[in-house]
Amino acid sequence: MVKKTFPSRFGKLPPLYRFILNPHKELRCSTCPDCAGKTLVRKVPLVVAVLPEQIATINKHCRYCPRCDILIVHKDELERMLVIAFEKRAPKVIGNEYLVIGVLEPTAWRRREKDSLLVASLPEYVHDIKEYLELEFIPAHWGPASPAAPPPR
Ligand SMILES: [Zn+2]
Repeated sequence: MVKKTFPSRFGKLPPLYRFILNPHKELRCSTCPDCAGKTLVRKVPLVVAVLPEQIATINKHCRYCPRCDILIVHKDELERMLVIAFEKRAPKVIGNEYLVIGVLEPTAWRRREKDSLLVASLPEYVHDIKEYLELEFIPAHWGPASPAAPPPR
């Protein structure tokens, strides 16, 4: 059996965002982990691939730093929304490995409500994630947080 993996290139639009999936519930990222500036709240239609072969689009409030182009998504919140998205459609995949592979073009998100987008044509409307960053979080750290380091290749 061939082991399914996430597509390395999915969207056909130019890649966007340096992406952080924040696993720390106690950290809400109102400031940027890189430059320590205030982050903005931005609603972004995330494209999430769930193994073995499901794709969901989740329109979600994220934290965004315009200076660093960093988009931060809280893992617990995203997972709650994924459960809701798959509860009826494909309950078997709940709990499977997933990856936020990109973001949907906003006009495509609005159109999607009228005539549902076919998965086959979905890549036409998707910007892949440009870069994945890990969040370095030191609880009760006295002083500014260290900048996020890229994951090892
Ligand atoms: Zn920043």
